[in-house]
Amino acid sequence: MTDRASQASASYYIRTFGCQMNMHDSEHLAGVLELSGYTGAADIVQADIVIYNTCMVRQSAEDKAWGQIEALSSLNGSALLAVCGCMAERYGVDIMSRCPGVDLVFGLHSIARLAEMLEKSSRARLCDLGNINRASIDELPSKRANPSAAWVPVSHGCDRFCSYCVVPLVRGRERSRPPGEVTEEVQRLASAGVFEITLLGQNVNSYGRGLDGTSFAGLLESVACVPGIRRVKFETSHPGDLSDSILVAMSGRAEVCEYLHLPVQSGSNDVLSAMGRGYDRDYYLQRVERARELVPGVVISTDIMVGFPGETDGDFQGTMDLVRAVGFDAAFMFMYSRREGTAAASIGNEVPQVVKAERLKALSRLQARFTRKSLVNLVGSTVELLVEGVARSGEYVVGRTRGHQVVLLPSFEAPLYSLVEAYVPGAGSHAARGRVKKVIREPPD
Ligand code: SF4
Repeated sequence: MTDRASQASASYYIRTFGCQMNMHDSEHLAGVLELSGYTGAADIVQADIVIYNTCMVRQSAEDKAWGQIEALSSLNGSALLAVCGCMAERYGVDIMSRCPGVDLVFGLHSIARLAEMLEKSSRARLCDLGNINRASIDELPSKRANPSAAWVPVSHGCDRFCSYCVVPLVRGRERSRPPGEVTEEVQRLASAGVFEITLLGQNVNSYGRGLDGTSFAGLLESVACVPGIRRVKFETSHPGDLSDSILVAMSGRAEVCEYLHLPVQSGSNDVLSAMGRGYDRDYYLQRVERARELVPGVVISTDIMVGFPGETDGDFQGTMDLVRAVGFDAAFMFMYSRREGTAAASIGNEVPQVVKAERLKALSRLQARFTRKSLVNLVGSTVELLVEGVARSGEYVVGRTRGHQVVLLPSFEAPLYSLVEAYVPGAGSHAARGRVKKVIREPPD
């Protein structure tokens, strides 16, 4: 590493793996660094400091992070290399033993002291994990790429302890933020011009547990009432905590978008029970029916895991049947991967990799039909879209409907980060196509 890394004017590059919570944490990392005088680097090769904000929900995410951390020396051997996020919480100082190039391992709950940690680690390698249950990073400055939309965490950690999941081990027990703190943050964001808010929690529906007289339904209403806020989304929902009152709150306020991300994970009662999900197939189907009854036009996406230990062909067919019965608008589908320290890691009876891969392929093929059907249903309609970013081709920008579906728009028609109304003339397998009718709201300056 060069001496540059220890100077407050040094440049930084953050590589984020994993979920929206990690992406939001990276916004805080950038905010804290810029407040201390650091500047964003154009790319990883030019950066004086490289921070990997890691994920370990699946083995593949972890392997990718290890690979990139180990490869950094060949890309940029002079940078100060720091690792945070789930792998830092889980492996701590062991990361330094495995990767001699790592200068700093830190917990996200220590990031208020990030500048100090960087300075110290430029002289000697440092591991500082802080205390996961004490400090909060929610009040720290953040730097967002999209000035019109913001993620707002309402709770951290999770008490569900699904048998396959590492989140409670790395993110700790569930802690809800006081409702006043959440609404004040939303008010501040609205004053800065933000008009779309996504409330985040590992299990967002259980928000308020441990806080007297507070519920997620109540919080949704308070946030939706904040002047200037036009769209409110939330994730991730756990079916066991998706109450009717939440669904009523969704339909009762026009600002709350008709979108539910409701992970089912499996359509087999035996597998759901072994996963410790706390519901069965009939309960899940009943929640979907209720959502469709109470929230007209609701768009429902899900997460599904194949190859959980002991999953039989019959169990997998149960999942396929459930997918047919629900007709999800979108689904994120994965193969089970064993996570050390979780209850499922000691079950044994692993499903062979080749069988997992076959099941994932069959499931993806089935779901693709429903995803396309959902997009085709948009054809001929006029939708409201938030223009989130540039599509890979560069000719198009990506618009998101209130139901979180992707509509591609010609880039010359739609200003980035604006809210537009668009007509949908066609749809493909992964996105619909739109033509802008009018710009409803320009992004803030
Ligand atoms: S509810 Fe979600 S975050 Fe919590 S343990 Fe289960 S899978 Fe993990």
